Amino acid sequence: MAQVQRMSRLMVKTLRDDPADAETLNHKLLVRAGYVRRNAAGIWTWLPLGKKVLDNISRVVREEMDAIGAQEVLLPALLPKEPYEASARWEEYGDLLFRLKDRKGAEYLLGPTHEEIFTLIVKDQVASYKDLPVMLYQIQTKYRDEARPRAGVLRGREFQMKDSYSFDITDEGLAESYRLHREAYQKIFARLGLDYRIVSAVSGAMGGSASEEFLAPAPAGEDTFVDCPACDYAANTEAVTFKLTPVSEEHGPVEELATPDTPTIETLAEHLGVPASATLKNLLVKVDGEIVAVGVPGDREVDLGKLGEHLAPAVVELVTAEDFEGREDLVRGYVGPQGLEKVRYIADPRVAPGTAWITGANKADTHAKNVVAGRDFEVDDYLDVVVVEEGDPCPKCGTGLKLDRAIEIGHIFQLGRKYADTFGLDVLGQHGKPVRVTMGSYGIGVSRAVAALAEQSADDQGLCWPKEIAPADVHVVAAGKALQTELALDVSEKLGAAGVRVLVDDRAGVSPGVKFTDAELIGVPKILVAGRRSAEGVLELKDRRTGEREELTVEEAIARLTA
Ligand code: ATP
Ligand code: MG
Repeated sequence: MAQVQRMSRLMVKTLRDDPADAETLNHKLLVRAGYVRRNAAGIWTWLPLGKKVLDNISRVVREEMDAIGAQEVLLPALLPKEPYEASARWEEYGDLLFRLKDRKGAEYLLGPTHEEIFTLIVKDQVASYKDLPVMLYQIQTKYRDEARPRAGVLRGREFQMKDSYSFDITDEGLAESYRLHREAYQKIFARLGLDYRIVSAVSGAMGGSASEEFLAPAPAGEDTFVDCPACDYAANTEAVTFKLTPVSEEHGPVEELATPDTPTIETLAEHLGVPASATLKNLLVKVDGEIVAVGVPGDREVDLGKLGEHLAPAVVELVTAEDFEGREDLVRGYVGPQGLEKVRYIADPRVAPGTAWITGANKADTHAKNVVAGRDFEVDDYLDVVVVEEGDPCPKCGTGLKLDRAIEIGHIFQLGRKYADTFGLDVLGQHGKPVRVTMGSYGIGVSRAVAALAEQSADDQGLCWPKEIAPADVHVVAAGKALQTELALDVSEKLGAAGVRVLVDDRAGVSPGVKFTDAELIGVPKILVAGRRSAEGVLELKDRRTGEREELTVEEAIARLTA
């Protein structure tokens, strides 16, 4: 017996117009269809229909996590400060963290993610290698004071996450736990009916080695990723690499060029009548306080985030006027690597050995041409530091890459021993000696998945849920007359008894037009209408997605919907 939910008793108020503050499709539709209501920026109430979808997603996640042997727990959201101080994240999270005090003045936080606490739980509960590997998960409320909580439940300040953590003795064990999670995620997202890509990611503040993101392509997404139209390569833009290919070409000797009033690449390229790509731009930054030059082709931008990732944990800052004081070797606007003896030189692989450039001559109002990498200057480190652009070559097959927007719905990390080191998480090994544990951490944005699914499946009429997560299997509409309502309720009872989840619009005094519009907006995959031919016991079944219709008797409708 499945639930038969009567619209006449359901707390749902649909809206004809988009909410004024909504920019994205999921935000507009989830509010209009009565799934969620906003309480404050990034803080949402899940109304009955929304709660059903959220629970359906949680159920799928739970089933697949259980299937790989992960054990469900529930940790608090209100957490003591100390573990996060120990891991330095109390500071590192900056403004993202919600911090608070209790009546005695002790400091707490609302958990943004739970690596610290899980590490401590396992340290408390697990003593021997015999008890490992262990995988633990929870579906729980997380808190992050996001700078721009926009796009509805896509980016909340309070949101639902499935987070899991694996604990192993060996690197091979961790790789296996990671593989199990990756496969479980593939099953989960397939069951949810999400279109997604797995991309390699940089692990950022989390530290650690292997890391992949699950991205759901959608225009409302806040992540940009690269997609190869020719092969299976897809990656986070920050993870794209460019192959270093030395060239062997003859170049003339270095020649100075008088270039007054050309402090920028644009003015220089125009003055010389060359493309910006023929020039070498040298950005000066401070790395842990020391000036470092970063060389990239003049038509490319340096991605400071990427540079920061490469150089972490060193701190990268932009230089200020003061940094030039007493540095005669650094001529602002006219820096060239050929004169930078005391400065570490980092370059993009496009500045490969053998390539020749027009660059600063380390003299005011002067540039130099035929400045050749490897001949006239040495590159200390080749790092991928430019902002990726549409058409850049695929690192795998060389085809021009496409840039697309996507929503990050999941993230898997091989954390390694970072947290185990912080908290001294050891277990007794096979030979009686303590062994340090290695960890993985894996997240799915459960509430964000609702938004991602809404984005991907909606059409002009409204929401259009994949079957497994829809709030009901069928939306039965009683067109209006008593006879029609009677038939609608009768077929609904029978469907419910046959295990079909039913939402039945039995509202009196609501026009058929409004009921049909609401049914389209709410987005249950099948719509069954008791209309014109109700007296003969004939209903019309409509597929919400394809719009296909067929007339069926009650028995036929039940057979069709239970098939
Ligand atoms: P983002 O880059 O979007 O801020 P993140 O990389 O900080 O996300 P993780 O720490 O990897 O996120 O969290 C795991 C998952 O939780 C993410 O893949 C995402 O699906 C979800 N998530 C993260 N932040 C939010 C949020 N503010 N609202 C809803 N879901 C979120
Ligand atoms: Mg992430």
